[in-house]
Amino acid sequence: MLNYDKGKIFIERSSCQQCGVCEAVCSKQAITIDLRKDGTHDIVVDEEKCIKCQRCVKCCPANKKENYEGYFDSFSKKEYFLGYNTNSKIRRECSSGGVCKTVIIESLRGGHVDGVYTLCTNDTFPFAEGEFYTQENIPKYDDMPNSVYHSVMACRNINKIKHCHRLIVVGTSCQLRAFNEALKGKADEIIRICIFCKQQKTLDSTRFLAKAMGTEIPENLKFSINYRGIGWPGIVRVNEAQMSWNRAAALPFGKRLWTVAGCNVCGDSFGINAGADITLMDPWKICEANDLGETLITINTDVGYELLRQIPSITLEAKTFKEIELALDLKDVWRKQQLVPFFRGENCDSNIKRAGRAEQRQRTFFQTVVEFLPRMPMLFYRALCKLPDRRNNILK
Ligand SMILES: Cc1cc2nc3c(=O)[nH]c(=O)nc-3n(C[C@H](O)[C@H](O)[C@H](O)COP(=O)(O)OP(=O)(O)OC[C@H]3O[C@@H](n4cnc5c(N)ncnc54)[C@H](O)[C@@H]3O)c2cc1C
Repeated sequence: MLNYDKGKIFIERSSCQQCGVCEAVCSKQAITIDLRKDGTHDIVVDEEKCIKCQRCVKCCPANKKENYEGYFDSFSKKEYFLGYNTNSKIRRECSSGGVCKTVIIESLRGGHVDGVYTLCTNDTFPFAEGEFYTQENIPKYDDMPNSVYHSVMACRNINKIKHCHRLIVVGTSCQLRAFNEALKGKADEIIRICIFCKQQKTLDSTRFLAKAMGTEIPENLKFSINYRGIGWPGIVRVNEAQMSWNRAAALPFGKRLWTVAGCNVCGDSFGINAGADITLMDPWKICEANDLGETLITINTDVGYELLRQIPSITLEAKTFKEIELALDLKDVWRKQQLVPFFRGENCDSNIKRAGRAEQRQRTFFQTVVEFLPRMPMLFYRALCKLPDRRNNILK
């Protein structure tokens, strides 16, 4: 998080959400970004170049304190769909059902919007960066990455965005919050697609996955990674090694290990506070692993619904709240929200303090175990995963 105090811009690394907007909006190029060993980035402000305009501070999404009161009130009244691309090959190769990429491509092809800002793939770590697409450079499905779980400074290239009549922006909730401030005046209308997110990961999570697959990530970061695709929930591939996503997701993802520090102060997984028109996620717990895939879509606004309806190559199956409630994981999101004041270092009641400390201890314990032991059979990690979740103090 960037802050301003006593005539100085300073960084609170413990809250940085790694979106990169600060670098993009600095008119004096006073901000540089250095890659760390764990794949996250350090933000460095050059005191001599900085003119203290505080634009970076205003755009920093971690700076905006969230109000979660009533957050869950509307969920039982929203509309939900399981959606997927009608082409089985595309559907199978995307993160879930391919709804996000299809909306991007078909909205540009159909002239429903004149610009989209999302990621494009590249071949150096973190293998994706922000890109502005228009009718002149409509992306192909392969041009955009499937879900990237390590942090991507998605907002770094927003200066590529030209003025649009209707612009779609795609991002996790912190990235959407950054866009809201930084893109003022860039479009007559902005449509926001939220990629549901409870946490972005550091590179160490990928190192762990590689280790579990019997391979390694070299120091020079010359490796290739694909987190999803090839059916649902898909396959994770590091170079030549691969493992099913279901197995990979068992330990490192469930217990919030290797989480980007700023994820601890964000409880808006659905992007509701960021103004998301639709939220896209996985149908965990309500769908069996299958050969194709589907995206669970939450409709937040009429604009989001209209956008989806205009796209014939997406099949939409309407679902009731009851049918999809399990997959929304509302209890976990609620728990995350409760812990935000603890991680922000604010006053909070003793129950929350206990749960917060328990989460910190639990993370350190799991990290130590999985990082320092040699490669263990998957069964061992699964057994570890069954240990009681100490964060649940808060739920009592
Ligand atoms: C960090 C992260 C955490 C997630 N956590 C969960 C979770 O806990 N539970 C859950 O149900 N779903 C989660 N998801 C969402 C899920 O993985 C899929 O993105 C979602 O189901 C949409 O699938 P799709 O087939 O429609 O996407 P696709 O059609 O494959 O399109 C993917 C889109 O996401 C964009 N994208 C990929 N990675 C990132 C990134 N890091 N930042 C910004 N944009 C990105 C791509 O550019 C592309 O536009 C997470 C996604 C991310 C990126």
